[in-house]
Amino acid sequence: MPAPDYALLLDPPAFPADRYAVLADRLAALMGTRNDVLLIQAEAVLALEATAASLARPGLRALNIVTSPYGAWFGGWLERGGATVRNLTASPAKPISLQEVERALDDGTGFNLLAIVHAESASGILNPLPAIAALAKDRGIVTVVDAVASIGGHAFEADRLDIDIAVIGPQKALAGPAGVSAISVSPKAWELLSHGAAPENSMLSLLDQKKLWLDTGRGALPGTPAPLEFFALEAALDRIEAEGLASANERHKRAAAAARAGINALGIPTWVEETHASALVSTAILPDAIEAGAFLSAVSTEQGADISGGVGPGAERLIRLNHTGRRANPEAVKANIAAVSSALRSLGHRADTDSALEAAEKSYFAAFGDGL
Ligand SMILES: *Cc1c(COP(=O)(O)O)cnc(C)c1O
Repeated sequence: MPAPDYALLLDPPAFPADRYAVLADRLAALMGTRNDVLLIQAEAVLALEATAASLARPGLRALNIVTSPYGAWFGGWLERGGATVRNLTASPAKPISLQEVERALDDGTGFNLLAIVHAESASGILNPLPAIAALAKDRGIVTVVDAVASIGGHAFEADRLDIDIAVIGPQKALAGPAGVSAISVSPKAWELLSHGAAPENSMLSLLDQKKLWLDTGRGALPGTPAPLEFFALEAALDRIEAEGLASANERHKRAAAAARAGINALGIPTWVEETHASALVSTAILPDAIEAGAFLSAVSTEQGADISGGVGPGAERLIRLNHTGRRANPEAVKANIAAVSSALRSLGHRADTDSALEAAEKSYFAAFGDGL
């Protein structure tokens, strides 16, 4: 295959100013919200940092749920801005439990903010978001959800769950560009964001975005927008809308079920039970005798597999089978299973590739056979 001609990407036209608001509305529809949606001209980590930096002030009392490095960073950004933060850290690389959250919420602090990641691609877990959001709602607490990984891969409806601030990025399950992201903000969240210590004239300021874009009729974005990112976002939305969000969710669910079936047939344990597993990556625990670095070096990527190690505390002995976005399909799942199997075998572990592939296929067949 000849190398692509990247010079074609030079001198793009400006993204039409009247299409930013359309993009924001389409993202709002994907997020299931009627709240304001801000377009952030950077990868999603910056949108998360901007959210934390804009909320943070002395007197803000945040319950910050930590299930990966992303949550740990969020707590750090809040603290940097003077907030009082209680980090509620789950067992390493596991989801948080509802009981832990309920106990923390009722510890007498009187939290006014709760922050949580929905699904984690670092460890392949899913937090029990709907139930946690209900606890926060009962107590009138503003909620911030990092749905960067989950949007497109899991059902996520911000308004139905009463999520005040949701941060998303197109680069995971939506299979879009990585240089742009979005934040939805409810009226209650705007109240909490409107305070004297909020950043101003700053890329981290949500109030600047409100003042310069929302309140001026949502025309051209402030600054110099990167047109390629917005054209790519538009194309990604075209594709996901043509498929339908529910179908994309279902495609991830099937890929995850098939990956789990294959992993189980290889005789290595999956990391969490199905109800706590994300549909984005499937995680399995390496056999004791196999060193993680050696395993990853033994994995071949030739047949389209995408296998990596777990990320963050507690995930050191996990392997991740990626079936996010365009990879949520039978071929990619089978490539992953075959690659894990042959790496295990090359390191002297017994694994039956054929029966693992068959188990993955059967899982797919069962899903279609059920008329799903
Ligand atoms: C990928 C991801 C992000 C954003 O990371 P980027 O480096 O901006 O791609 C944030 N939160 C979670 C849970 C993620 O999986």
